[in-house]
Amino acid sequence: MLNLPIIFIMENRKCLECYEQLRGRADQKFCSDQCRSAYNNKQNGETHNMINSINRILKKNYYILSTLTSEGKITTSKTDLQKKGYRFDYFTCTSTTKASQTNYFCYDQGYREKDNNKVVLVRRNHLPAQQSVSH
Ligand SMILES: [Zn+2]
Repeated sequence: MLNLPIIFIMENRKCLECYEQLRGRADQKFCSDQCRSAYNNKQNGETHNMINSINRILKKNYYILSTLTSEGKITTSKTDLQKKGYRFDYFTCTSTTKASQTNYFCYDQGYREKDNNKVVLVRRNHLPAQQSVSH
């Protein structure tokens, strides 16, 4: 059997932060610890902003629904919710009624759609069950 020389394949790998050519292990992503932490800080900042902006939407939805229920409203319209700035694409959980309708909740405040643009306001009066984690 021939002893073949070990060939190092030089990929064109660059530091994710400063785009410096990398010469270390194949799984190396950064040229230095400074670049690693600079990059990670930026990523964490973006994650934080993304979570914050979604939380703001959910809180606004929650506020819109809870204001209506505290005013004693039982139904409203999708148009009215939309005018108040409600985002129908953001909710925290759903549940299905016996009649196979979907309730959309923001925390404990929710709604379900009826005919003709109408919505019924609903509430969840229990805390979510703890998800059991299997290892
Ligand atoms: Zn670097």
